[in-house]
Amino acid sequence: MSDSRTALARAWREAESVVVLTGAGLSTPSGIPDFRSPGGRWERYRPVPLPEFLAHESARETYWRYKGETWQVICEAEPNPAHRALAELAAQDRIELLVTQNVDGLHERSGFPNERLVNIHGSDANVECMACHAREPRGPVQARWEAGEAVPRCACGGPWKPATISFGQSLVAADLERALEAARRCDLFVAVGTSLVVGPINQMLPVAQAGGAATAILTASETPYDDVADHRLADPVELALPAICTRVL
Ligand SMILES: [Zn+2]
Repeated sequence: MSDSRTALARAWREAESVVVLTGAGLSTPSGIPDFRSPGGRWERYRPVPLPEFLAHESARETYWRYKGETWQVICEAEPNPAHRALAELAAQDRIELLVTQNVDGLHERSGFPNERLVNIHGSDANVECMACHAREPRGPVQARWEAGEAVPRCACGGPWKPATISFGQSLVAADLERALEAARRCDLFVAVGTSLVVGPINQMLPVAQAGGAATAILTASETPYDDVADHRLADPVELALPAICTRVL
């Protein structure tokens, strides 16, 4: 076991409250590409901002086509050892709150306890009606779209949208406040598989640090906080997290 893993495991064991933020790098070992990376989907599609989705049927069709491309990938993906290590740490009360930027639902499917999980950018596993804000599981609504129906609509007449946060759509204020408050109060903040460039959620790290917490970054990519973090690990998360988990529990 490397010294850096040992040191982080010790800090994790000694901390009373650990808060974790996860990003795309956690799910790439599960076969879900990082859409922001070079060659990723964001280079080929112009994302549909929420006001356009609400205003035009053609924008809604573009959006559903664009979301459909990743749906099969997500359905076929399985949680990897890093997801399972985090679920085990939470089950043993070693994670107070986990905030994820991922929308793939793999934390839920790894058995991570829902009451300790915040999907800050929403979830692809559900759809939300843009009129009455009802929510339903994605599968049956996706099937209607794929069967050649027009953009699927809720019983109230409003259009369904996969329940991720779109461009031009605000984060859920209560979720953001819960994330920042947990960061403010924790003793150890751990960022996993995120390059910490997407705001405002990347502010969890400086907020945690200002509150006196130790900080750790586990990701292969560079981040703007590499020089200030107490622990910096670049090894693959699907290897590092299970090894750290074993040492903590
Ligand atoms: Zn509705």
